[in-house]
Amino acid sequence: MILILNTDTTPESPSFADLARHLDALPRIRWRVHQEKGAQQLLTEIYLIGETAALDTADMAALPGVDRVVRVSEPYRILGRHQDDHRPSEFVYNGVHFGQDSLQVLAGLCAVDTPEHVGQMMRALQQNGQVCTRMGAYKPRTSPYAFQGHGAACLPWVFELAGKYGIRVIAMEITREAHIDEIQEALHRTGNPTGVMLQIGTRNTQNFELLKAAGRQREMPVLLKRGFGITLDESLNAAEYLASEGNRNVIFCLRGLKSHMGDPHRNLLDFGHVPVVKRLTRMPVGIDPSHSVGTRHKGPDQVLDIFHATAQGIIAGANLVLIDFHPDPANALVDGAQALTLDELPIFLEDVRIARDAYLERCTRLQRAVV
Ligand code: PEP
Ligand code: MN
Repeated sequence: MILILNTDTTPESPSFADLARHLDALPRIRWRVHQEKGAQQLLTEIYLIGETAALDTADMAALPGVDRVVRVSEPYRILGRHQDDHRPSEFVYNGVHFGQDSLQVLAGLCAVDTPEHVGQMMRALQQNGQVCTRMGAYKPRTSPYAFQGHGAACLPWVFELAGKYGIRVIAMEITREAHIDEIQEALHRTGNPTGVMLQIGTRNTQNFELLKAAGRQREMPVLLKRGFGITLDESLNAAEYLASEGNRNVIFCLRGLKSHMGDPHRNLLDFGHVPVVKRLTRMPVGIDPSHSVGTRHKGPDQVLDIFHATAQGIIAGANLVLIDFHPDPANALVDGAQALTLDELPIFLEDVRIARDAYLERCTRLQRAVV
C-alpha cells in the first residue's frame, strides 16, 4: 500500500510525526518514506510493507498528512500502474521532458570512436534541432577480441563536445558499478556541460547488483533495455529494482527479442508491446530500431526496414527512439552495418514526425469513437 502525502507534508512537518506514531502502531507493518521531485513539486510517499490486506483504505486516507492511498495489487509496486493511481508517468532531466505523453529521439554513435566523428555527429544533431544523443563508451561485445569501447578515457572530450553543440542528454551504456562513478566524476571535472542517461543493456537486464547501483543514485535517469531472452515480466521486475532502490526516472526500451538463426533481422521486433508496457507501468517506453533490425536492408518500396520499424513503434505510442547513426559507417568500430548516415538524419526526423502525428491523430479519432 502506498500513502501519498499532501504536498505540504514532508518528514520535517509536525503532522508527519503524528502520522509516524500511527504507522508504528500498526501490527506487522513496516514502512518507509520515498520522496520524488516532480516538475513542479516534491512528492512524499510512504510505502507500507507487510500485512497490508488487513488495512482499510478509508482509515489510512484519514491519517494526518495523507492525501491519497493506492492499494498495490500488481507486482511492479513503484513503477506499475495501479487502480486509482494518478502518480506521474513523466520526469524532466537537464531540461528535457521524458514521459508517456512525449517523444524524444536519441540519435548518435553506437560507440564513441574519434573526436572527429563525435563532433560531426553532434554538429548534425544541433543543426537539426536535437538536444539528445547516444554515445557508447563501454561496449559489451560478443567477442572478447572486438573493440570494447574507449571507456573512461573518452568521457571528458565527449562531454565537452556535447556542451559545445548544446547536447543536454547522452544515453551511455554502463556495464558495471564503477562506470557510474567514472561518468559522474568526468561530468563534474568538465563542469557538467551535459547530462547522462545511464543505459543498461539487454545483456545486463538481470544484473541485479548493477541495477541496484544505478538505482541508488538519483541524479541520472536510467534507460533499461528489455532482456532479449527473458519474459516481459522479468524485464519489468528488473526495472522495479531500479525504483526500489530510489531511482524512478526509468525509461524502458524495447529492442527486439532473440528468435532463431537465419532471421532476416538481428532480433525479432517487439514494438507491438509499446502500449502493453505503458498500460502495465508508468514508465516512458522507448524503442531501439537499430539493434532490433540490425541491417540497412530495404523493402521493394525503397524504404529501409529501420525506418519502417521506427514508424511502427512510434505509431503505437513510443516515447523515445534510440537510433544508431555514423558519419562514416564503413569505418565505424561497432555496428556500422545498421548505422544511418548524417545525410539521412533530416529525412529520418521528418519520418519520425509523420509517424508521431499519425499516432496523435489516431488517438484523437479513436478516443472520440469509443464513448
Ligand atoms: C546498444 O544500444 O548499444 C546496445 C548494445 O544495445 P542492446 O543492449 O539492446 O544490445
Ligand atoms: Mn550497437
